[in-house]
Amino acid sequence: MSTALITHADCLGHVNPPGHPERRERLEAVNAALEAEEFAYLVRVEAPLATDAHLRRAHPADHLATLEARAPRQGYAPIDGDTFLMPGTLTAARRAAGAVVLAVDMVMRREVRNAFCAVRPPGHHAESATAMGFCFFGNVVVGARHALEAHGMERVAIVDFDVHHGNGTQDLVWDDARVLFASTHQMPLYPGTGASDERGAHGQIVNVPLPAGASGGVFRAGFLGRVLPEVEAFAPQMILISAGFDAHARDPLANLNLTEADFAWATAQLCALADRLCDGRIVSTLEGGYDLSALASSAAAHVRVLMERGHG
Ligand SMILES: [Zn+2]
Repeated sequence: MSTALITHADCLGHVNPPGHPERRERLEAVNAALEAEEFAYLVRVEAPLATDAHLRRAHPADHLATLEARAPRQGYAPIDGDTFLMPGTLTAARRAAGAVVLAVDMVMRREVRNAFCAVRPPGHHAESATAMGFCFFGNVVVGARHALEAHGMERVAIVDFDVHHGNGTQDLVWDDARVLFASTHQMPLYPGTGASDERGAHGQIVNVPLPAGASGGVFRAGFLGRVLPEVEAFAPQMILISAGFDAHARDPLANLNLTEADFAWATAQLCALADRLCDGRIVSTLEGGYDLSALASSAAAHVRVLMERGHG
């Protein structure tokens, strides 16, 4: 058993306007870091395109139709102040969601023990019918619903350590008792949601807001005190991770002070939990992270732990 790395060159074809933080160089930096010798044993797979049927498990048909209708043949079509449709955007977004679908399939077929999807655009801000915050489709929720509906799972957990609250994921799973969503994030910060009293229709949403300036100790305390016990009590059959690395101290979009060691620690904690609960099944997908070198080294630290544990 091993670890899959799923990506696609089309994810570089979503080219935001100059100066935009969610730029193709992010994925190039992650891919370059994962070319190092120590990652030679990753099972490297190209991401397929998510189908309409995959995406419809998270979004209504009119969300897909609206995006297709607004996608320009050239230039930019702004959706909001920081989310732009370009000619390559929807193909990239379908690769990003399709990567998570394939990762679920590979883990369920026991071809690998766990998987990391190196993709963009990210997904956790995309609400049911609203693209926002650089996101178009709820990639991680598309994967979670695939595990539930194509593989007959009954309970899955999504853990999101991106520095921003995953309002989109929360919106998409609010009523879904089969999905636990646990998030650590800086608050107050974009998008403004994620207070600890937002619990979902079935008490299955766990928000752990962290104050600006918090360092690894505060993050780890929240993880140990809230996230891990709630995941354990839920007894998921798979753990999906929204792996954003913008809580890193060097990230320009936020004010937490995590390091590579904190991301590795969180990954190891989730792997240990998955080993106990669900045969090690973990599917992780890239969300944010906007300092190129911090993003690359943090993603490498994350994947290093997945690989070490994937051989367990
Ligand atoms: Zn973020």
